[in-house]
Amino acid sequence: MQHGIDAERYGPQGDAMARQVKTCVHCGFCLPVCPTYKDLGQEMDSPRGRILLMKEMLEGSLEMEEGLPYVDKCLGCMACVTACPSGVEYGELLTPFRALARDRVKGTLLDRLTRLSFRLLLPFPRRFRAAAYLGRLARPFAGMLPDRMASMLELLPRTLPASRPLPSVYPAQGRHRARVALLSGCVQQVLSPAINWATLRILARNGVEVMVPASQGCCGALSLHNGDADQARRLAAHNFEALPTDVDAIITNAAGCGSGIKEYPLLFRDDSLEEEARRFSARVRDVSVFLDELGLERDPPPLPAAMKVAYHDACHLAHAQGIRSAPRKLLKRIPNLTLMELMDGETCCGSAGTYNLEQPEIANRLGANKTDVIERLQPDAVAAGNVGCLMQIESHLKRRNSPLPVLHTVELLDRAYESG
Ligand code: SF4
Ligand code: SF4
Repeated sequence: MQHGIDAERYGPQGDAMARQVKTCVHCGFCLPVCPTYKDLGQEMDSPRGRILLMKEMLEGSLEMEEGLPYVDKCLGCMACVTACPSGVEYGELLTPFRALARDRVKGTLLDRLTRLSFRLLLPFPRRFRAAAYLGRLARPFAGMLPDRMASMLELLPRTLPASRPLPSVYPAQGRHRARVALLSGCVQQVLSPAINWATLRILARNGVEVMVPASQGCCGALSLHNGDADQARRLAAHNFEALPTDVDAIITNAAGCGSGIKEYPLLFRDDSLEEEARRFSARVRDVSVFLDELGLERDPPPLPAAMKVAYHDACHLAHAQGIRSAPRKLLKRIPNLTLMELMDGETCCGSAGTYNLEQPEIANRLGANKTDVIERLQPDAVAAGNVGCLMQIESHLKRRNSPLPVLHTVELLDRAYESG
């Protein structure tokens, strides 16, 4: 027993949670960077407040129903981890806590329906595509639906991009320098399939052969984020089998997937697959990091027209994985691209996995704040390394009738290469 949390009762993850609770010295350095604290102004909506609430709920001195709404408002953006001088790994507390809470608090009918739809649709591209088509038909009736459902419809693009199956192998061009497997993702395949194609092309141009096993599935990051640890484990275990081990890396181009996979060792703690989860997690690299470390074969040619690009740090890249310089270094290699830094650039845009669907009011305010900052800078385009951020920022720009393109880092590199 540590700090009153019954680690035995909460299984192997109880120890991790108790350790994080104990590491927090209540200094409050994390408060000014927490988007929900800045937005709502209450201690209980801050990292320090949530750690205290989680501790009390785990000790049994506070009812889950009372404390959970404050934890539910947490974006999981991990800005608090970057700011914390004591090294509190907040994710080691939040993710297992959400899984425990989901088992104990069922929530309203709308909560349950929302979670069920996430569980049944998001990890499965075909089902999600069908639901997205239906959702677009329902968009005119959004005003008659609860806020949460209206937000889901609002975020869907006006037209769904056509789906084109990815090849099982995409050959390297020129000198063969590496062989990797691409994690093709779930939601991104439906909403922005161009990102995977751009990834294949820029890797190939740099001498990288890419395997894309058709049998792979969702990595489970969204399930993990939603407290559905069982589904996350099942999805992850499937990919341990589906993705090859004889490659130099497993590439992801979605920050949310990369950061979720980094949590596999905790997800599988004391499980027979723990070692495999560790090995898999260690092999996964964000495409920007892999390319930066490998080194571009040559500078990309200039874009057809000079471009000022505002780079938005996706929380799951910057805070959760510490990836800040690699995407910037790659973008700076494009000769006529000027990289611009957003004021408050590491503050969450409100996307945060499925947060903009579950907490639309806060997410909308964060999306509007991000759009204000972007508009003040007057770039020609916005770049980020996560499909959720791209969708959220694009949706908010469109609400203001802004035609500003919002692109993944690899799409900009690909545009430059294609223009040469
Ligand atoms: S900065 Fe770290 S130690 Fe200080 S209150 Fe926040 S989580 Fe606790
Ligand atoms: S993860 Fe983000 S929203 Fe949650 S407590 Fe930390 S800084 Fe605040």
